[in-house]
Amino acid sequence: MKVCKFGGSSLADAQQFKKVKQIVEADPQRVYIVPSAPGKRSADDTKVTDLLYAYHAAVSAGDDGDAIFGEIKNRFVSLRDELGLGTDIEAELDTISRNAKNGASVDYVVSRGEYLNGILMADYLGFEFIDPAETIFFNIKGVYESEKTRTVMRGRLRQTKQAVIPGFYGSMPDGQIKTFSRGGSDITGAIVARSARADVYENWTDVSGVLMADPRIVKDPKVIRMITYRELRELSYMGATVLHEDAIFPVFKANIPINIKNTNDPEDPGTMIVPNVDDDGTDTITGIAGKKGFTVISVEKANMNTELGFGRRMLTALEKNDIRFEHMPSGIDTLGVVVANSEIAGKQPQLLDDVYNLCEPDSLEVFQGLALIATVGRGMISKIGVAGRLFTALAENHINIRMIDQGSSEINIIVGVDEKDFEKAICAIYNAFCG
Ligand code: ASP
Repeated sequence: MKVCKFGGSSLADAQQFKKVKQIVEADPQRVYIVPSAPGKRSADDTKVTDLLYAYHAAVSAGDDGDAIFGEIKNRFVSLRDELGLGTDIEAELDTISRNAKNGASVDYVVSRGEYLNGILMADYLGFEFIDPAETIFFNIKGVYESEKTRTVMRGRLRQTKQAVIPGFYGSMPDGQIKTFSRGGSDITGAIVARSARADVYENWTDVSGVLMADPRIVKDPKVIRMITYRELRELSYMGATVLHEDAIFPVFKANIPINIKNTNDPEDPGTMIVPNVDDDGTDTITGIAGKKGFTVISVEKANMNTELGFGRRMLTALEKNDIRFEHMPSGIDTLGVVVANSEIAGKQPQLLDDVYNLCEPDSLEVFQGLALIATVGRGMISKIGVAGRLFTALAENHINIRMIDQGSSEINIIVGVDEKDFEKAICAIYNAFCG
């Protein structure tokens, strides 16, 4: 049995709805459908969720918001009409605008894109509609409640063979609507998949899977056919945008594979995200991702290696200033801490002061403009030469490496390079393995 989440671009207009119906009907295992709100129909279009945010802001500012609401209404009414449905979407829209004008919360208003799309999709497929306000729960502080949700959702799904469950929201104990963060329909899909004990969680989007590198940097990068949750986590952390971060956890816990598929090319196998892969003999990499905007705080002190507690004092200085760090490469008498610029913004003078006082280094230097690049792959575990290929590629392209870090899991090598070399380095690594 499969749970299928369709993203906003897969549901942007009637044409896309028709593709979705064909996809669902092509496989009787596709029984629980999780839709997003309608996305962009073209590059310069606006997502319905963004229109709803704008509408709520306008109404809260005392404006009538009628022009924006008109746009929202148009999208749903034309969807309904073009699909030839009899759904009374006007009545739903009237309720929403009345509630918004009576001070309904932003979460309620912005979640209505999914709600309305869910109603239309359920009618169109002839499936039951399940409102997540009754099956997905947050506590009074707005924290998602997994146990309660799973019990109630599972009970509810058991009563129905085929259902549409809108993404993005649930409710709090007082019945108020609460949304996940942006892109949160991925999380709903994962929750439904786990509750239903699905065999596969299909996540339908507008690309044929996860790419090996950022297509804005590498031309036509290859699609990753299979990736483990851990590899994906490493790539996502370093900036690859695939799924909402919190969508991995529910299915990971239940060992359910995620299949990223393309609504516009349903025959393409897409990418399988799996809990584990037995050694599949691969000796290449799975993907590359990276980010600019890091700073290194580097200290040197004679005999640092024998000084008990030096590392702790360095980290205390960071903790005192509420700064998280990314990496901590060290030598015998040197120690560096890599932090994101956003973490130390406005805090640098105090941090350096604290490092001086707590660590009493012989010297302290700050290097700015570092970019980090993660080369990720289960194929690197216990294989000789993968790192060699990576470093040779950088050397041949005259790229200076300022930092190297390999996680103990051996699935990740991180190099720090000057920001100006960032794109060139990613292309060099990609070409070394896939050129
Ligand atoms: N519609 C919501 C958003 O734009 C949630 C989602 O699409 O996943 O963030």
